[in-house]
Amino acid sequence: MQIIDSIQAMKSLVREVRSKGQTIGFVPTMGYLHQGHLTLMRTAKEKCNFVVASIFVNPLQFGVGEDFEEYPRDLGRDSKLAEEAGVDVIFAPTVKEMYPKGYSTFVEEERITDKLCGESRPGHFKGVTTVVTKLFNIVQPDLAFFGQKDAQQSLVLKKMVKDLNMNLEIQVLPTVREEDGLAMSSRNSYLNSSERQSALLLSKSLNMAQNLIEAGERRVAEIKKAIHKLITQDTLARIDYVEILSLPDLEEVEFLEGSSLIAMAVFIGNTRLIDNLVVEV
Ligand code: AMP
Repeated sequence: MQIIDSIQAMKSLVREVRSKGQTIGFVPTMGYLHQGHLTLMRTAKEKCNFVVASIFVNPLQFGVGEDFEEYPRDLGRDSKLAEEAGVDVIFAPTVKEMYPKGYSTFVEEERITDKLCGESRPGHFKGVTTVVTKLFNIVQPDLAFFGQKDAQQSLVLKKMVKDLNMNLEIQVLPTVREEDGLAMSSRNSYLNSSERQSALLLSKSLNMAQNLIEAGERRVAEIKKAIHKLITQDTLARIDYVEILSLPDLEEVEFLEGSSLIAMAVFIGNTRLIDNLVVEV
């Protein structure tokens, strides 16, 4: 497995791979890999001849006061895991390589980025759509793989690919969880042992919501109230948002109908965690 840090070198390798008629699967990540990332990589290898994974902690998608500096990084560990998962090349550019002095071009989706994480992290999705466009241009994948864990991100990127007629398909794979239900995340490494216990509130409250819905509850306000009640019982937990929106347009609804997304962001201590559940009624 190769590790490439230059855009030029990555592009010339892509040219070589494509000239042999091979398909390219792409998994963009910020590294500190876990089974969520590795499942995307293994699936990419099943579906494509050649797999590129990027590891780039993108400063553009972090707000002021967020954890860009602290974000965990370990390229040595990541490259071993990625190789075992079938990755052919890791693309790990520096910030300077991606955003040289004078960089001034951005990509923005304007319809579904003003809610959920877009509302609490202004500028976040502009950073995501910009970096992913750049990565798509460099890697030229046939298929790109994303996780349902970041539900809004996957919706925004699908919209971007459609709106801008990008020449690839996005595949979204289910959230991979720890045995006790916690959604895997590189940020889980920030949690101490009591926070790790409290972090279970996210998946527990989604399960509770699912049970309420299975028992016939359709009132969005009631479901949100029950989730708030469960989470706010824990003094380590502080809700950023809990929302229930229609899919795929992320519109507010009063009653569940068809396909909906229950999405939440909760601070456990200083760590902001997200989780979500798709419900069909
Ligand atoms: P990140 O490194 O957090 O930017 O994530 C890179 C990719 O992995 C994104 O498409 C995420 O949605 C996906 N991902 C992160 N955590 C999980 C998880 N627990 N299950 C499935 N996919 C995940």
